[in-house]
Amino acid sequence: LFISFEGIDGSGKSTQARLLADRLRGLGHETVLTREPGGSPGAEEIRQLLLTGDTARWSAETELLLFTAARRDHLERTIRPALDHGQTVITDRFADSTRVYQGATRGDLRATVDRLHDLMIGTEPDLTFLIDMDPATALARGLARGSGEDRFEDMGLGFQNTLRAGFLGLAKDAPRRFQVIDGNRTPESVAAEIADIALPRLGL
Ligand code: C5P
Repeated sequence: LFISFEGIDGSGKSTQARLLADRLRGLGHETVLTREPGGSPGAEEIRQLLLTGDTARWSAETELLLFTAARRDHLERTIRPALDHGQTVITDRFADSTRVYQGATRGDLRATVDRLHDLMIGTEPDLTFLIDMDPATALARGLARGSGEDRFEDMGLGFQNTLRAGFLGLAKDAPRRFQVIDGNRTPESVAAEIADIALPRLGL
């Protein structure tokens, strides 16, 4: 099974991806935990290119190509081989992040995002957990853990609201793939809800 976690910065999706991976491994299920941008040696190098420097470092189009190149490498080197071996792959972000971040926030690139996805990626997760979160809370969490970690953070509440709406719109368009999870709760109760959904899908 191929599972992705999506959400705005500070939503807790990385924690939840890790908790689900730990749970599956604890049950003896072979699980690969990975992330984007990154997840393979080449894609991690591209991550460095993407997350450092100022916001004007790349045009929106060049940035989209770099995210897509990283995803292609991640898919070829990490995701497909693991799925072919019958392992479950859990990724912290996948193509939905590009649809929202590059598709909606830096010019209207959504049609280009979709065409590039069809050409170069062509794969969707079987299951996507959208950790939905009040942007003010998520932003406060981000600040609490020390933001400024990369150049995409610190973009403010309005930006986070746009991203949240973008993710919820994707979930509405693909209700069979998405599970929208209320992230405004303790990590333990969020993790319990996610496990209740994921484990039966794996026959666990
Ligand atoms: O999830 P993580 O914090 O590792 O993502 C790194 C940064 O890259 C985030 O600040 C996120 O906003 C940004 N990002 C992006 N477009 C993507 C994926 C991530 O701008 N497709």
